[in-house]
Amino acid sequence: MSIKNQLQQLRKTIPPHVTLVAVSKTKPVTDLLEAHEAGQRVFGENKIQEMTQKWGEMPNDVDWHMIGHVQRNKVKYMAQYVSLIHGVDSLKLLIEINKQAQKHNRIINCLLQIHIATEETKFGLNETEAAELLQSPIFKELTNVRVLGFMGMATFTDNKQQIRKEFRYLKSIFDNFAEDHPQLTILSMGMSGDYQIAIEEGSTMVRIGSSIFGARNYH
Ligand SMILES: *Cc1c(COP(=O)(O)O)cnc(C)c1O
Repeated sequence: MSIKNQLQQLRKTIPPHVTLVAVSKTKPVTDLLEAHEAGQRVFGENKIQEMTQKWGEMPNDVDWHMIGHVQRNKVKYMAQYVSLIHGVDSLKLLIEINKQAQKHNRIINCLLQIHIATEETKFGLNETEAAELLQSPIFKELTNVRVLGFMGMATFTDNKQQIRKEFRYLKSIFDNFAEDHPQLTILSMGMSGDYQIAIEEGSTMVRIGSSIFGARNYH
């Protein structure tokens, strides 16, 4: 199936209150353009250098989301244009994003990545760390970043009950935090394999790559 057809099929399964981020990492700009022609405007990448190159080549009405782990020394390369950074997992990183945003006279929107999977390797804050960050006086003084919600990745497993449990947990802490922090409105959870469960559990933003562009080929 063409990218256009894949997108059209996929959109039928995503309710209008859920934002679709088309994850285009490793894919050529020709593929992104095909998705763009089919109306897609939000693209997700996980490497700053690759995203910046594509930003230079794609039409300027695209919203670029950084969904990967962010190294502080690379924030400067995307500060001019990035529209949402999903993977913020430290105050130090937020301070750097704030500093680079100031240079471009922008406010950069961010999500805190929350660790919900059982794997050790996935980045993210736990509930206590997220609370500490949001309550810290330093954070409150950062005028050029805005934390709009949470992002999480479920364990890589076929066990749908476990995936559902992890998403449900993230949604419950998101709801708790949102009571005290009304700016928290985005809950980014769900990928090709688990987005339907994520939406059932309260996701407002899904990050989908292979179901649009086909399997990725890493060499
Ligand atoms: C690659 C990636 C995705 C998309 O994965 P698919 O399984 O291809 O849909 C979503 N979120 C993050 C953080 C990713 O790195």
